Amino acid sequence: MSRQKMVVGNWKMNKVYVEGLVLANTVMAQLQQFREDVKVVVCPPSIHIQTIASIYRDYPQLSVGAQNCSHHASGAYTGELSAAMLASVGAEYVILGHSERRTHFNETHQELAEKVEQALQNKLSPIFCCGEPFDKREANQQEAFVQQQIEESLFHLAPKRFEQLIIAYEPIWAIGTGMTATPEQAQEMHAFIRQLIASKYGDDIAENTTILYGGSCKPSNAAELFAQKDVDGALVGGASLHAEDFVQIVLQRV
Ligand code: PEP
Repeated sequence: MSRQKMVVGNWKMNKVYVEGLVLANTVMAQLQQFREDVKVVVCPPSIHIQTIASIYRDYPQLSVGAQNCSHHASGAYTGELSAAMLASVGAEYVILGHSERRTHFNETHQELAEKVEQALQNKLSPIFCCGEPFDKREANQQEAFVQQQIEESLFHLAPKRFEQLIIAYEPIWAIGTGMTATPEQAQEMHAFIRQLIASKYGDDIAENTTILYGGSCKPSNAAELFAQKDVDGALVGGASLHAEDFVQIVLQRV
């Protein structure tokens, strides 16, 4: 996959069925004429995936993703959804390693490596989240923290498989807090991640990797984040629940 401008909406655990339908349709109505080369991905709760994938089928700039998948292929894992199941109802992407899942569901580097494996085997593009907590940033250890997340969950991949990934840098202290990283902080970490990828996979793959920023991205700060040379787009949480805000962010990613 080559580097692309991208905006991803993470609805988290919000929107019952009808509300999800309204939000997905409103986003589509506002973006269906939008012909810029920006990929827009909506990641709703899994119950919405099939319906939204069928609504978006005729719009190649719009896709649907899941927020998680099991690290198992199938079997006696009550309540879990496999990557194959998600792909079978139209998901093309899957968010993996979101900090809320690492914190509340104790996802480990190893488990995430297995989830990445499951996603790739089932032709889902992983949107792999990484990012440091506030105490690591205060101690100026943010790069070492992110480096370990990436190395331990991703660097076992062969180059051809690594190329299918999207990386989302999401400083934990900026998620859902209203505290956005400054454009300089975002650029610095994105450049670091690209350099880390280059050291393992070479410059071509590093230059072709899409790296998104996430953490209180909103219409008022999107443009300055997108102006940074290593910021290819955004993973948007809260603002993706409001069609107008989400669309405004997309329109700034041109
Ligand atoms: C997220 O949950 O991935 C996120 C970036 O959330 P928010 O935009 O609300 O900070």
